[in-house]
Amino acid sequence: MNKPKILIVDDEKMNIELLHHSLKDQYTVIAVKEGVIALDVAKRERPDLILLDIVMPDMDGYQICRALKDDPETKEIAVIFVSGKDALEDELTGLNLGAIDYFRKPFNTALVRARIKNQIELIKKTRQLEEMAWVDGLTGIWNRRMFDTKFSEACRYAQRNKRAVSIMLIDIDYFKQYNDNYGHAAGDDVLVKVAKALLLGAGRPFDTVARYGGEEFIILLNDVHPQDGALVGEKVRELVEALDIEHKYSSIHKVLTVSVGVASSRPSNEFIDQDALIKLADKCLYEAKGAGRNCVISNDFRPAYDELNSLE
Ligand code: GH3
Ligand code: MG
Ligand code: MG
Repeated sequence: MNKPKILIVDDEKMNIELLHHSLKDQYTVIAVKEGVIALDVAKRERPDLILLDIVMPDMDGYQICRALKDDPETKEIAVIFVSGKDALEDELTGLNLGAIDYFRKPFNTALVRARIKNQIELIKKTRQLEEMAWVDGLTGIWNRRMFDTKFSEACRYAQRNKRAVSIMLIDIDYFKQYNDNYGHAAGDDVLVKVAKALLLGAGRPFDTVARYGGEEFIILLNDVHPQDGALVGEKVRELVEALDIEHKYSSIHKVLTVSVGVASSRPSNEFIDQDALIKLADKCLYEAKGAGRNCVISNDFRPAYDELNSLE
């Protein structure tokens, strides 16, 4: 996290000024005076924390908090109520709505600063842990868990919009021999380099490149023309070969290579069977190994391609 960003929502100028003054050195502080605007600003600015007044003319703090927590885009933003309402029920209502803390006005600025500092530390740590749950520790690319999530999302989108998805399994050729001869640490370096090459090959913002397990990677292409899968497959195969990593023990190629199996759904598919698509990619990968390795095999996409053309 760079300088953490805090959004203050309060209808009284004086409160805003007081908070702004005590926080501006450590945080990027933005402030708004109306609830409705606060929701828009929260979406646009993605603050790390919102300091939220309760009694305001147009929309009260509770309503704003509810709206923030109901919206997938803003529900993770931490909220702290800062209010003159000092009854126990008010505080309880605020915390039950998902706020992480409740400061009573008038507040002591030193105390507010200290509490906010602690909360921001916690937010940072939580984010790090969450990220670790989705990222492969060795290569830094997404892990299989993230792939599964993105794949489900992509299939739902494709079904709704009559689009195709492509997935490809990428497996390093003769990697056991590489490890046995150059050592496991060198093998790990190779995995990192291959992951980088795959990111280059499938670099659109909506593509997902993940480590699927061991020396196997998987790429998901969203919203593709059915022939794109095979093209990207060929591109990543070439990129890995171009890394020019010596592999004397690879039976034929003498440099490190990968085999790729590509499976694409059809744009007309009303239901995309995720397991079947993975099995199909795996079957294609197996065929690529059988065909001599360092090659790409994809399922026959031509019928789907014809359908797509006839739609246009
Ligand atoms: P093929 O061309 O048919 O794919 O043969 P291969 O030798 O690549 O395949 P095999 O499945 O026999 O061996 C995979 C090897 O990948 C064995 C395992 O030690 C290695 N491997 C799996 N995960 C890791 C890892 O995290 N680091 C390293 N260095 N090696 C790994
Ligand atoms: Mg393997
Ligand atoms: Mg292999």
